[in-house]
Amino acid sequence: MCPKCVVEIRDSIVRGKADIEALTENLGTIRAEIVEEADTVVLRKICERHGPFEDTLASDAQFFWRMENLFPGADLPRKQVQSYGIHSVKYGRGSYLIVDLTTRCNMKCDTCFMDANQIGHVYEATFEEIKAVLDNAANVEPKREFNVLFSGGEPTLSPHFLEAVAYAKSIGLDRIHVATNGITFAEDPRLAFDARAAGLHGVYLQCDGMSDDKNAHRRVGNYLDVKRLALEHICAAGMSVTLQVTVARGLNNDGVGEIVQFAAKNIDKVFGVVFQPVMFTGRDEQIADERRYELRYTLSELATDLQAQSKTDWKPMRDWFPMACYGIFSTYLDMLDPSRGRGSISASGHPDSQIFSALVVNRDTGDWVPVGSFFNVESFLNDVEAVVSNARGPVLSKAQVALAIIRNFDSTMAPAGLRVRDLFTLLEQCTLRSNCQVDDWSSAVYKRDQWRMLIIGASWFQDLFNYELHNLEMSTALVADPGLDKTGKGLGEVSFSFKNAGGWRQLSERLRQAPSLSQWHSTHGRHAIYANDQLVPIQGVPQKAAASEVHCDKEGIKVAN
Ligand code: SF4
Repeated sequence: MCPKCVVEIRDSIVRGKADIEALTENLGTIRAEIVEEADTVVLRKICERHGPFEDTLASDAQFFWRMENLFPGADLPRKQVQSYGIHSVKYGRGSYLIVDLTTRCNMKCDTCFMDANQIGHVYEATFEEIKAVLDNAANVEPKREFNVLFSGGEPTLSPHFLEAVAYAKSIGLDRIHVATNGITFAEDPRLAFDARAAGLHGVYLQCDGMSDDKNAHRRVGNYLDVKRLALEHICAAGMSVTLQVTVARGLNNDGVGEIVQFAAKNIDKVFGVVFQPVMFTGRDEQIADERRYELRYTLSELATDLQAQSKTDWKPMRDWFPMACYGIFSTYLDMLDPSRGRGSISASGHPDSQIFSALVVNRDTGDWVPVGSFFNVESFLNDVEAVVSNARGPVLSKAQVALAIIRNFDSTMAPAGLRVRDLFTLLEQCTLRSNCQVDDWSSAVYKRDQWRMLIIGASWFQDLFNYELHNLEMSTALVADPGLDKTGKGLGEVSFSFKNAGGWRQLSERLRQAPSLSQWHSTHGRHAIYANDQLVPIQGVPQKAAASEVHCDKEGIKVAN
């Protein structure tokens, strides 16, 4: 897509000068070429009206091609007709369904993919809208398990947060999460208990580094104190967190290793880490080219940085895989029990956008190593694929997988104390991540085994500079779309990248006549927003200003002096 044409088209639609189809059909589409150059992979495209655009897809071409070569292929085609034209997701069920509860937020980060607190209007889903999108989601085919991720803005500001969780649980969804900046969880310990009681399984906690300077762009003075207290409250309620890390080069990429170290040392509290290189949309949609080149961070760079910042031998070319490879556990489980009403979860996204690395953590010491340092992961995945292809029935298939575990294990390289039988426990942890149709799944996932699998994931969401329609077709991070009007016309599931970078958010919220900020404030009042390095007043932490001193000015930005 041409980054400038798309914005022009979107603005024309908002002004009533063009139809929705101007965006969903091929206006703004331009051909691009992907070329390898000096061991990097770049994308180049030329718009007849706006000139050339270039962006980096990978800083390490070998890593890039390895991910492409390991990709096992897309999931089954989706059956539902989507109304997003060329931006529609065509394959898979989506491993995440993001349900945006509100555009309001109690922070004002320098980078914000959805421009929270600056967009000039407020969209807040009604409970009826939330129920409608969840009901719709439960029937999407292919019928697979998926994670519900309540998001925003700050989703816990929605008055419907707890009842939304409870409703999702009531219609048989078990993988229920919330993505939060943690302030409300830090402020009120009861929130985590109430959410857990309603059915929440886990929390995606925003955290961009283990020191305040790595989070300076978040503009909260006591950012890490807030995170630590939120973490304690969430874990006290029986949940754990996945650290959700936005990474930009030169901003915080020199601290990614510390985050993994923290996760391993706190393995009873931290379930996983997801690194998300910054996407240039929302506040950054009009970013200058030079600044974009400076900040652009690729998945291959992440793998290289993590290797450099770790004491263990974490090899980019051995230990990283497309997230779609993890899907072999899903097909294996589905083969063992095809009678289940819903297939296992499958994150079969594009290999340029979704990758993972598996670490094994000693729960007692917090020491960790990549699984690949003592176990041939690539060979094992191939073995399991062969077992699935042969489909010789549950008993024989399980025996074959057991043999594959033993065959690919190098005990001489394993961490001290890790035995063959521990590998079967680790396999069980993998299958529990894929299949939640077991008794008391949520508690089973949090079982405190001596050796814990820590999955480090990385998701590279597209913006208009690196947008690729083929990549988008197999998106696994989907956003529940309540439709273009109050009747629910066009209700569906839209890819995260089209929603936030392609312009669907701006269009749908305008067409649904989201109230302006001033209208919202006049009917609902204002809420505290922490910005300009202000301190969140939480127990035991020094304060500069209390929340009551934080105000919204007429542009919606609140500042206390
Ligand atoms: S926490 Fe920051 S990035 Fe997230 S919605 Fe709020 S302002 Fe945006």
